[in-house]
Amino acid sequence: MSQLVSPHGKERKLKPLLLEGQALQEARAEAATLKRIPITSRESGDAIMMGIGGFTPLPGFMGQADWKGCVDQMTMSDGTFWPIPVTLSASKEDADQIREGEDVALVDEESGTFMAIMNVQERYPIDKGHECKEVFRTTDPEHPGVAKVMAQREVNLGGPIRVLSEGRFPDEFAGIYQRPAEARAVFESRGWHTVAALQLRNPMHNSHAYLAKVAIEVADGVYIHQLLGVLKPGDIPAETRVKCIEALVNTYFRPERVVQGGYPLDMRYAGPREALLHAVFRQNYGCSHLIVGRDHAGVGDYYGPFDAQKIFDEVPRGALLTQPLKMDWTFYCYSCGDMASMKTCPHESKAVIDDNGNHISGDRLLVSGTMLRKMLSEGKTVPKEFSKPEVIALLRQYYEGLEDNVEIKLHGAATGEVTH
Ligand SMILES: [Zn+2]
Repeated sequence: MSQLVSPHGKERKLKPLLLEGQALQEARAEAATLKRIPITSRESGDAIMMGIGGFTPLPGFMGQADWKGCVDQMTMSDGTFWPIPVTLSASKEDADQIREGEDVALVDEESGTFMAIMNVQERYPIDKGHECKEVFRTTDPEHPGVAKVMAQREVNLGGPIRVLSEGRFPDEFAGIYQRPAEARAVFESRGWHTVAALQLRNPMHNSHAYLAKVAIEVADGVYIHQLLGVLKPGDIPAETRVKCIEALVNTYFRPERVVQGGYPLDMRYAGPREALLHAVFRQNYGCSHLIVGRDHAGVGDYYGPFDAQKIFDEVPRGALLTQPLKMDWTFYCYSCGDMASMKTCPHESKAVIDDNGNHISGDRLLVSGTMLRKMLSEGKTVPKEFSKPEVIALLRQYYEGLEDNVEIKLHGAATGEVTH
């Protein structure tokens, strides 16, 4: 019997909704005869996560009671803990033409792929502003997650789905894209009981490597698990991030303690609530722990740097098995001569670096992923204490290949200013 953490939900077993073999062939033929509802990239990602069991125990897109329960209390109507609503929207025109109980085909609006068949049981309007205020803690239309919710169509459709496709992920990210059952099988083959997940959406630099190594000291292994879906403009694409991780792991880690994988979701940038969602699906992937560092799943200055850690204290006991490994802000300190964190390093001054990457004065090298991207796009030398040369070389290659450099905007926290 598996010693890994059991999947989320009362039944404690993975519930993948992806059809296979003959059933899949028949359902695809059936889908072609049904009314077609276009769905967004985020909705496709959510459908795939349900397909592969990553969103166990969800049976489909949420109805109104579950939407309301998730938004207001992070709990579905049957008592299952769920921190962010997983919903699907349709135009009023489309919704008006569907009978309740009717099967419809969900078609990815970009690729035209038939993603799933949904049995529509509910059609309901939502208060989008209320959802944003509760889930994102803001209704600012500049927030990329809020903008996506506000752009949803007028009517939500709820009902169980049968998933027909994993979209572009199995081909485009062969070797990285991983289903929960596959990740669990790898962990089991290595005899792991405890696994810490490291969520990544930026290139892996020394701070991330430090977090991963601390996690390996306390768990059997680390699962470097990165987002393969859509990010915001200016972020580094997954294929480059994958190469950076490989370069680091191959040279600086014991490979038998590390598994790399990817998952098909888009970023929602919901900060604390998204950290909880990250823990829920990591439980399905077999991870006992999730590393939660500074500003996990945040964007701009919308969330306090440790809000995503604090929110775990609001989860009812036993509602979520995957536990946070709460890590402080980590950096290289020139006086410690080592990687350190706010929790361990007594030297409070900020290091000053020249354009050639040389240390001039001060102690803590506080460079965010955003700051790194700015240095690279401007052709400055990145200090070796911040990122390994193998990683920098790969990133430089990526930036040199870009035709139009996206200007990187810096928000307060990304400049490395320390505010205590
Ligand atoms: Zn220090």
